Amino acid sequence: MKKRKLKIKNILILFIIVVIIIFTLLILFSKNNNRLKNIGYSNLEIKELEKLSKNELNIIYKYDYNSNLVYIITSENYNKDKLDLYLDYTLKNSDIDYLKIFNLINHESFKKDNIDKYITYLKKFDNIDGIIKYVNEYENKNINLDSTTLSFINEEYFIVDYLDRYLNYYENHKDLSYKEIVTRINSNLDYEFYTDSTKSDLTKEMYTLVNKYNYLEKDFVPDNLVSVTGIYARDKAQLVDAAYDNFVKMADAARENNLTIKVTTGYRSYNFQSTLYNNYVKADGVKNADTYSARPGYSEHQLGYSADLTNAKNVSFDDFENTDEYKWLKDNAHKYGFIMRYPKDKEYITGYIFESWHYRYVGVEIATYIYENDITYEEYYAYFLR
Ligand SMILES: [Zn+2]
Repeated sequence: MKKRKLKIKNILILFIIVVIIIFTLLILFSKNNNRLKNIGYSNLEIKELEKLSKNELNIIYKYDYNSNLVYIITSENYNKDKLDLYLDYTLKNSDIDYLKIFNLINHESFKKDNIDKYITYLKKFDNIDGIIKYVNEYENKNINLDSTTLSFINEEYFIVDYLDRYLNYYENHKDLSYKEIVTRINSNLDYEFYTDSTKSDLTKEMYTLVNKYNYLEKDFVPDNLVSVTGIYARDKAQLVDAAYDNFVKMADAARENNLTIKVTTGYRSYNFQSTLYNNYVKADGVKNADTYSARPGYSEHQLGYSADLTNAKNVSFDDFENTDEYKWLKDNAHKYGFIMRYPKDKEYITGYIFESWHYRYVGVEIATYIYENDITYEEYYAYFLR
């Protein structure tokens, strides 16, 4: 008898505990439910919101009803650490599409301190990337902002000092993309070749730019020239030591693949270039000669970091493109710091026909960047080195 009583008592206690737990849960549940309901959320919305953490719900309780909230929290780009910002700014700016604000806040370059400025521009323009870049980097530059300007600002290689030139060029070239216009202006193409010329900036040392807008003076001779001889040259040539050392490494690596790379010409003096160019002009006329030969002072060969190459058979420049040496260089030269200086399809930028044989030493880091991003040295120099 006594044993049975005890058992009933235990069951009763257990039952009471279970009932208490259920009630507590129900109260907690309906409390959330009521708070969200009081704010104005529908049962359907509440079902989604209840999947959030307690912290997130506490943030939601601080704000009025937000008809976009469920879209925000169920988006794959939803970031719970930014919930406060989403709610605050979508509610304060109901005249702007919530998705624009959501994307703005999620943007990789978004800075919380600048949010009010972003929002001001977001009311006028659609270009979120451009707005963020403008506010983060150029707001103090006194730029007259319109949607075209914002599009230029958004370009990867945008240079703020060139903005007026981009806009002028755009006026007459509306068929071109913003990207193409930035490429052209950064390469100086709003000027004719050999006009608007300036002395090459020699403080850039091994990165000095020599092209149809940047020239070396008659008496410029590079320091540290060394002779290229033996298996590394067709007859003999000269290169600046850094270019020479890396050329040797490159040629040795090529030899391991049974390829022979030799220098035909490295450094060329002003006077030598002068003779060469004048002979080409006599034979071919100025217009043609200019497409493949530099005017004296404008040749990269005078800098000492450039080499024209051939192979074991001493193939001519025109045939070099069809050699295995060229094929190897195309995808390996950058590993030794060399770039193909006058690539195919970039003739209008470099001002020279495609020269499969002409390589310029710029160091591994820059050569790799140029190789991977498929840009010319003109573009690289304008954006990173100028
Ligand atoms: Zn050359």
